[in-house]
Amino acid sequence: MRFAELAAAYERLEATPKRLEMRTILADLFRPLRAGDLERVVYLSQGLLHPEYEGIELGVADSLARRAVAQATGTDEPAVARRTKETGDLGLTAQERTAARTPLEPRSGLTVAEVYSELEKIAAAKGDGSQEVKVRVLVDLLVRASPLEAKFLVRFVLGTLRVGVREMTIVDALAESFAAGTKEARSRIEGAFNLSSDLGVVATTLAADGLAGIDRIGLTVGRPVRPMLAEREPTLDKVLDRMGGRAALEYKYDGLRVQAHLAKDGRVRLFSRRLEEISAQFPELVADLPRAVVAAPAIVEGECVPIDPDTDEIQPFQEVSRRRGRKHDLARVQAEIPVCLFLFDILLADGVPVYAEEFPERRRRLEASVRPTERVRLAAQRIVSEVSEATAFLEEAVAAGGEGVMAKSLKPGSAYRAGARGYWWIKYKRDYTEGLTDSIDGVVVGGFAGRGRRAGVFGAFLLAVYDPKRDRFESFCKVGSGFDDAQLAAMPKRLEKFAVAERPPEVDSGLTADRWFRPGLVLEVQGAELTLSPIHRAARGAVRADAGLALRFPRFTGRFRDDKGPTEATTAHELLAMYRGQVRQAPPASDDAAAAL
Ligand code: AMP
Repeated sequence: MRFAELAAAYERLEATPKRLEMRTILADLFRPLRAGDLERVVYLSQGLLHPEYEGIELGVADSLARRAVAQATGTDEPAVARRTKETGDLGLTAQERTAARTPLEPRSGLTVAEVYSELEKIAAAKGDGSQEVKVRVLVDLLVRASPLEAKFLVRFVLGTLRVGVREMTIVDALAESFAAGTKEARSRIEGAFNLSSDLGVVATTLAADGLAGIDRIGLTVGRPVRPMLAEREPTLDKVLDRMGGRAALEYKYDGLRVQAHLAKDGRVRLFSRRLEEISAQFPELVADLPRAVVAAPAIVEGECVPIDPDTDEIQPFQEVSRRRGRKHDLARVQAEIPVCLFLFDILLADGVPVYAEEFPERRRRLEASVRPTERVRLAAQRIVSEVSEATAFLEEAVAAGGEGVMAKSLKPGSAYRAGARGYWWIKYKRDYTEGLTDSIDGVVVGGFAGRGRRAGVFGAFLLAVYDPKRDRFESFCKVGSGFDDAQLAAMPKRLEKFAVAERPPEVDSGLTADRWFRPGLVLEVQGAELTLSPIHRAARGAVRADAGLALRFPRFTGRFRDDKGPTEATTAHELLAMYRGQVRQAPPASDDAAAAL
């Protein structure tokens, strides 16, 4: 195919905002093509050279393209820059300057195959001298291009091909060119795209083998599957209703979705929700997954969250995002912010596609395929059929650092629906509050042995508030963050005089510390919000019969309140007032538990 034909089609696409017309233009463009050219045209029309997940970039900056346009058209660079400032589009400038040089639209003789392979050279140029290579290849192309071709070449390399072709428009056009154009054909083609994330493969298979071929496009290790997405409902009541009264609830971990592809030979590739490869950011997962998932070749999905190495508690998501895109210093960040992948689905097990199986079956397979390790575990799950059970599980999830729950349908038809958002999965997030700005003075009543970097010292402490009415110290958090090494090292000495063999009778907590202390030392902590908790005992029963208050994501401010005795610490009553003062609170209590303090 001549590149001029493609440029002409882009010109027509650009001129119409109508999806139907775009579909016809594209269908006409695709229809005569097969294999190589079809694949190239499909990728180019998406502004790509390869499927998006391969992440291949041309690496052409504006300045570089400007230089190429100037050289190719014999214009000085400042003039190119000035004109581009006026039009806002270097592609237009390239078109104008090329036309000025060669007033008649000549036949350039450029073919799509040629242009594509030159663009590949631009993408492949890396390291020293690569800029020169990119400019040279681009200049050579532009010198031969017609004005219209120059316009689209420049836009392509800048990533601003504005023909507005979305993936689904290409799917529509493919259905029209190579199948009957029916709804059914379209949905089969879309299905193949959702499983392969590669319209080039979809197009060439369809052109060669028709819809039968399309149906055979399945999962391939190393080729990401477009993720299944969730709908939302405002209350747990409605969630259960939608699910037909019974559902699997899972913690909704607040991190980064990871799709892990495990090859037979132990090779692992990780993809983000947007199908970018992120293997290099999580070497510890790449290392642990082959040990944890004993069903390779396999494709599994989970959520990756940071874990405090000392307390094994889930940390706020921002900690993971600090690792994104990081190349330097990865080892240090990895040690400081280790992550854990909580697996929640399996699409390919032992080389066999299982995505079409119903969810209970997939979960069973997932459990059978995973030997949990420190870095790779299963998402916590409970089957519920009562709102009260769902509420209790939600509280547990939030107390464990989750942001809510994910409900999953157990009904017939509960297959993994790649690329689709629907009520088979429903997310229910705890409403976020504006955060807690007040600090809390907590009394140290327990200590937990450190792990990893903190082996041999305390890694975290159990803190309590005081309830003057009951004369009790009620736990509200386990804090490990915010201590520097010197402060941690000094803690045993500070606590020595309070150490006791067993839990002091005045201390109330659902947690069992490694060491217990009589209430004495007061620390100032801050956190994200107060939530209901099944394990902490602060103001227990005040909001809900069997729940206490807990501080989410607690952090030591660095301030020891040696000026305060334990009974002068924050009281349970104050904590309750802080809870109530939060903009939004936990889900409405199922029973209107009263009993103010
Ligand atoms: P949202 O990003 O708010 O639309 O919520 C959906 C996302 O929640 C998914 O894409 C996952 O990244 C994440 N997630 C966390 N825990 C789970 C879970 N147990 N099952 C499915 N998705 C989960």
